[in-house]
Amino acid sequence: MDIEKIKKSIQLRDRCVRVLSKNGHFRVSCVKNTKTAQTAQLNHSLDDVSAVILAKSLSGASLAASFLKGEERVVLDFDGTGPIKKVYAEALQIGEVRGFVDFKDSTSEITDFNTPLGEGVLRVSRILYNRAEPITGIVELHKGDIATDLAFYYNQSEQVPTAVILDSIVDDNGLILESGGLILQALPGHKDIEILEIFSVLSNLPRLTELLSDGLNPQQILKKILPFEFDLINSTQVDFFCRCSKDSFTSRILTLGLNNIIEMQNANQNELVCHYCNKHYYFDDNDFASIKEQLIAKNN
Ligand SMILES: [Zn+2]
Repeated sequence: MDIEKIKKSIQLRDRCVRVLSKNGHFRVSCVKNTKTAQTAQLNHSLDDVSAVILAKSLSGASLAASFLKGEERVVLDFDGTGPIKKVYAEALQIGEVRGFVDFKDSTSEITDFNTPLGEGVLRVSRILYNRAEPITGIVELHKGDIATDLAFYYNQSEQVPTAVILDSIVDDNGLILESGGLILQALPGHKDIEILEIFSVLSNLPRLTELLSDGLNPQQILKKILPFEFDLINSTQVDFFCRCSKDSFTSRILTLGLNNIIEMQNANQNELVCHYCNKHYYFDDNDFASIKEQLIAKNN
């Protein structure tokens, strides 16, 4: 691979960039997560509507997490009454993001791209270093399109003037083609007129996926669209990544107790699936033998 190609591939990598306006009145994050959204669609075998709604949720989670530190994380949990009954996305500030979609029943047709969640609630939890318990806020779903609901959450529950743009598109085969998002928040000290100005700029933007298709990265997009000078605060690579492992599932099996484990083995229940990333873990007779040994050793 030549240098130009390497530069190009670094340039196109999934990334979340956070900036602060020079006057300190606005913080803005922009994420490109095309590969992340493609991985999510592939892992969970999702159709176009579900892939887009999950992509937008993953974008929203990465953007929300961009305001945190290190391994602090955000969970966006949408519960609906439509054909899609849950969309879950969880992101760490350092760039890992994972999530899934649950369906009401596999036969119900999803026809509405805009509101497949129907009515319901959005739960936003932040898991922070200095707090023993997650900080959770709940709002009713306003539109069920993820972006409006997330903005409504910040405006309503956290009283922070916020704009959210999430844009993910699929190709003719229903596969994610481009995906990205942007969040802007007004900070203490801002003037109302500044908010009106910036919201008007944001509502007249070209689609984010168009800018991404043009080959712009998040920092270049912010440079192009924001009407103010800013300082780059953070730039983080984003990946679909789940911390599940065979060990973590083994620990969970160990909590079931010997009888249940024997039953499990006899019933050939040797496959466990991670709900967050859809990775399959298989347990053979050797694994079961070692699990039983561990359990017996622990009980003695
Ligand atoms: Zn997993």
